[in-house]
Amino acid sequence: MSYKAYDDKNLGFTTRQLHAGYNPAEHYRSKAVPIYQTAAFELGDYDRCVRLFDYSEEGHSYVRFSNPTNDVLEKRIASLEGGAAALSLASGMAAITDTFLNLANAGDEIVAVQTLYGGSTTLLSKILPDYGITGRFVEDENDIESYEKVITDKTKAIYIECLGNPGMNIIDIQAVADLAHKHGIPLVIDNTFATPYLLRPFEYGADIVVYSATKYLAGHGTIISGLVVEKGGFNWLNGKFPQFESFYKEYENSIGREVLDREMFTKRLRTRFLMEMGAHLSPMNAFFLLQGIETLSLRMERHTQNALKVAQFLEAHPKVESVSYPGLASSPYYELGKKYFPKGPGAILSANISGGFEGALKVLENVRIFDYMVNVGDAKSLIVHPMSSTHFSQSEEECAKAGVYKNTLRLSIGIEDAEDLIEDLRQALEKI
Ligand code: PLP
Repeated sequence: MSYKAYDDKNLGFTTRQLHAGYNPAEHYRSKAVPIYQTAAFELGDYDRCVRLFDYSEEGHSYVRFSNPTNDVLEKRIASLEGGAAALSLASGMAAITDTFLNLANAGDEIVAVQTLYGGSTTLLSKILPDYGITGRFVEDENDIESYEKVITDKTKAIYIECLGNPGMNIIDIQAVADLAHKHGIPLVIDNTFATPYLLRPFEYGADIVVYSATKYLAGHGTIISGLVVEKGGFNWLNGKFPQFESFYKEYENSIGREVLDREMFTKRLRTRFLMEMGAHLSPMNAFFLLQGIETLSLRMERHTQNALKVAQFLEAHPKVESVSYPGLASSPYYELGKKYFPKGPGAILSANISGGFEGALKVLENVRIFDYMVNVGDAKSLIVHPMSSTHFSQSEEECAKAGVYKNTLRLSIGIEDAEDLIEDLRQALEKI
């Protein structure tokens, strides 16, 4: 029998989440992806060592920047995303930070929306500016003119998220990608809340996708992990990215032009940032992440079905003032949701509870199945009061912009039985 599922691009998503990128014949025919728990690899002979270090030969030498277990994970996510290459990092924030560092030099700017995960906003507004890279924030993420207004000659990327947190707003990805390309810059998108099962941003023009794989991709809530995926084909030699021009010159004879033309972003990320600054995902966590990805499509289907049922229940409940979930016809993002998320717009929602802060607190203190946690995307249902946790450092005005009020609760709907989740919320709401 000849096993070919590892590189058959025509297979369906669920088949690929189990097989893509792993050829057992290259690993003693182990059916599980082996964990290469080693710090380094034996180099063989002198000539091979040189080939590994000038990248003319694919292989592994030191686990700060590559490992065969991670290699399977990277090929698998690239396949699921429809991209040319991927890289696995120790956290979502490491993936996002290294992406920005790969794109921008001191003096450059990144244009971003205001409805980002708090860590990404802080990175762009308070940390990277100290190193000369400035985040420029768009006034209204739904208005394409707003993006145009903050793009300058120094802009090196536009950065958005697939679903805003916790308001679950949806941006018109295709329109923003077209604008980015008009200016010769890439569109980078954090696809954490959707995963490639619900949304494949490359199909709408995005160039780089980043993940906190800690969330749905892993699903089991046992590891911190990040991924960067490159679509391939972006013209990094268009005069706006001197760092890629010098990298191309340095490696065109060893890595080769064909590979660089296809996946230069990932090659530079690995050889510059993972190699010299670290933050590669550990092989053990790469294995755990692969375990999670094996069931991604099945979990996401259940997550979104449950989320819609819970959102409908909450919207009809007299003790709930409003619910933000793009799967509800009442959502201002309902139409965009149908376009970009035909399988359902994720499973995170927020609800404003009657009775102000005290009402929200009553629900928080009385739920029995939902866990009180700042995390999202676990198979188990989670609940949090954003104003006193995820948005703690933001002013009331900034919170209001993100759709966070004193009585707002954010819910990450898990894959439990929907009836149990609804019953849990019903009895907690009755306590108000
Ligand atoms: N992106 C989003 C949308 C997130 O929600 C998070 C974390 O909550 C991150 C990035 C950061 O990921 P990590 O916690 O894996 O570093």
